[in-house]
Amino acid sequence: MIEILEKPEIAEKEEGKHVIYTFQNRTFRLDKEKARERLQGKRVINGLRSAELNVLPLKYHEAYRIYKQMKANHWEPDVIDMTKDCSLWNSNKLSNRERWIIEMGVGYFSAAEGIVGDSVLHVIEDNLTAAELKHASLRQIAEESIHMDSLLHIISSLNIDLDEVTAKFQDIPSIKKKNAYITRQMPELKMGIDLTVTANKQKFAKAIFGITQVMEGTQFYALFAMILSLQRQNKMTGIGQMFQYTLRDESNHIALGRYILEQLINENPDIWTDEFQQELVEFMREGVALEKEFVQDCLPEDSVGLTQKDFLEYVDYNADRRLSSLGLPTLSNVKQNPFLWLDEVIFLKKEKNFFETRVTEYQTSGSVKNTNEDDLI
Ligand code: FE
Ligand code: MN
Repeated sequence: MIEILEKPEIAEKEEGKHVIYTFQNRTFRLDKEKARERLQGKRVINGLRSAELNVLPLKYHEAYRIYKQMKANHWEPDVIDMTKDCSLWNSNKLSNRERWIIEMGVGYFSAAEGIVGDSVLHVIEDNLTAAELKHASLRQIAEESIHMDSLLHIISSLNIDLDEVTAKFQDIPSIKKKNAYITRQMPELKMGIDLTVTANKQKFAKAIFGITQVMEGTQFYALFAMILSLQRQNKMTGIGQMFQYTLRDESNHIALGRYILEQLINENPDIWTDEFQQELVEFMREGVALEKEFVQDCLPEDSVGLTQKDFLEYVDYNADRRLSSLGLPTLSNVKQNPFLWLDEVIFLKKEKNFFETRVTEYQTSGSVKNTNEDDLI
């Protein structure tokens, strides 16, 4: 059985007919009887549905904590300075391989962010019944829109012909296969299936696993690493910064997906059979194989200061991290992150507050004008 990560940061005390909750220095006063009733009706799936998004009283504390974390990481793509990226892009100082990686990043993520946003909305959020889980999921959908907007910022700043780039990638077999593999189980789930049936609950669990652990948690990372490695060499730093922020968002999406999955299994132990666990491992195995094909297309030879072998190991490393976090058996022997510098980049970024750093970026940026500071708060 998997370990349930519940960190109750919430204090609860009774006061007459009220119950008082304290969470992160905020106090909520609720009617005791009504609160108890709502709490009893809360389930990941098949719980009480209410038109009002009744987050209180919190049952799934971790989802609300992740929501707060997501909100604290808020960023805006179109104020990121792209002047240095522009002059480098228009110079002859970038190799063809480096250009290819940037184009691949734009081409792949333009479709991938849409697939994630659409699936979280129509498959995951739609089937959840507990308000705080829906609430956090809705925030994730908003972040996928920000990620799509960041691609628009890149496309317009570099004056890339989107149709040309998209057309270039539509026919790359590894991208086609990767997207088809992740979306193949979605149409049925979008129709609204009976989630009281074990086999259907398993389909739902597999969709959450596929989107958040395989796609966001494994298949996004190699291309992230390639682009951040360019940034590390002081190339395309505006794009690098946007990808750093995106990666930081993805780590919350992965955590939220894992948490929902854990709670779902906890409430519906009939899902978690040996066969189903094996099915998830096999699904990840297929996702890893497709991702390795994709890496070989992106980086057919060692370049941008990195070796193809390291990238292939990085795919294994991330896949195993996702599997073991759910108590599932791992697939490879890679135990160490081949890109330790990347962990550092992600960690440092967590310390950086977008709004504190943005003022300087705004002042030094030639591309950002007429931005009202108040618009963003
Ligand atoms: Fe995203
Ligand atoms: Mn995401």
